[in-house]
Amino acid sequence: MKIQLSDGVKVIISKLNNYGFEAFAVGGCVRDCVIGLVPHDWDVCTNAQPEQIKHCFKDFETFDSGIKHGTISVIYKRAIYEITTYRIDGEYLDSRHPESVEFTNDITKDLARRDFTVNAMAYNEEKGLVDPFGGIHDVSRKIIKCVGDSDKRFDEDALRILRALRFASVYGFSIDNKTSDSVKNKSYLLGNIAYERIAAEFNRLLCGKNVEKILNGYKEVFSVFIPEFKPMFNFKQLNVHSNEDLWHQTTALVKLVEKDPLLRVAMLLHDIGKPESCPDGYCKYYNYTKLSAEIAERILLRLRYSKNFVDDCLKLIEYQDVRLYDSKKNLKRVMNIVGVDNTRRLIKIQQAINSLLYFKQDEKFMTAQRQLEEIINGDECFKLSHLAVNGKDIINLGIKEGKAVGEILNVLINKVIDEELPNTKNILLEAAKKLIF
Ligand code: ATP
Ligand code: MG
Repeated sequence: MKIQLSDGVKVIISKLNNYGFEAFAVGGCVRDCVIGLVPHDWDVCTNAQPEQIKHCFKDFETFDSGIKHGTISVIYKRAIYEITTYRIDGEYLDSRHPESVEFTNDITKDLARRDFTVNAMAYNEEKGLVDPFGGIHDVSRKIIKCVGDSDKRFDEDALRILRALRFASVYGFSIDNKTSDSVKNKSYLLGNIAYERIAAEFNRLLCGKNVEKILNGYKEVFSVFIPEFKPMFNFKQLNVHSNEDLWHQTTALVKLVEKDPLLRVAMLLHDIGKPESCPDGYCKYYNYTKLSAEIAERILLRLRYSKNFVDDCLKLIEYQDVRLYDSKKNLKRVMNIVGVDNTRRLIKIQQAINSLLYFKQDEKFMTAQRQLEEIINGDECFKLSHLAVNGKDIINLGIKEGKAVGEILNVLINKVIDEELPNTKNILLEAAKKLIF
């Protein structure tokens, strides 16, 4: 098997060779090449020890990215290459990290510590593919399988459980039966893993092409860190034209929106408040969008999503069923409240929901999309910063700085959006005076 190494990796491997060391491209980059994808970065492993690696690259910019574990980063032509000494991991006591690591001269031992067969391949031009655990066979069968005993591998590091699901989702692979049993049986160990690390894997998993299948097949695993999912399982919605329970309907919707973490997380959580707001499954879901947003907020803060991500996601959930069509006025009101980017996202979310529930693509969303672009390109007024008057102008009318100023501006912007007033300074000031006195 021939793999086309990048020029940078060739330079790095030959540098190490020139000093008498062995070196290979390893892990994700080899996997991606074998699958037929372009790797997003290249990792190198070598029998040179960290200080020796530094010596080989004394003329390069380097930094110690994980010197304790044998990793030095080398910068070549503005790309970063991680070079790691072959190593054997010591005992794992906390389901996260080895207590110690030991360097070795044997590439096979290094490959044995890696998580999955498809990730345990190395390649250089001299030796070709080194694949002691059948990675290439598993790529051809489209299988994610642990190197060695899967129970033990997940006991060592429980994040591997989510990595298995992530790779299966992203590459559209299945999970080997024994590995799959261990994913389920050992899922409780995810309780030992930091929420940030869980969320990072979860985001990538959600953006995979196989996301629906993985969410459905491993729902109990996900409820270890998001127990709020459980009421969705087997929750029948009696008013929806679907035989699916809420969970299956939701996972189908997740797959229908594009591969963007925000859209996919918002879709996953958009109906999470339904079971609580409507325990008998009948038509009236009182306030479920608000309840969904409340539950989503709890989950996202726990998983340490960024403030911006949480703010956007909650807006998408809360305004999921806002009317975006019928008139430009509606659209402008939404754009004012949630912002332009979120309005674009809401169009996508509603389009997906509509196409799943009513089996058709609806013109009205295309119209909303077109109108949104018209509003932006035509510099039409839809938010306070576009208004011909500002806070200062209102204060000059004799209003004290504070909440009242904002309230007056809001009345004005809504009147402009509704075309009750033109966006003209004098007229807006007159209208403001009438509101005040
Ligand atoms: P990607 O870069 O697309 O996320 P990757 O497999 O390259 O995928 P990295 O985190 O970059 O993931 O890790 C590089 C390699 O290190 C992996 O291919 C695997 O061989 C090994 N590895 C990473 N994380 C683990 C882990 N938790 N347990 C065992 N081996 C791991
Ligand atoms: Mg990688």
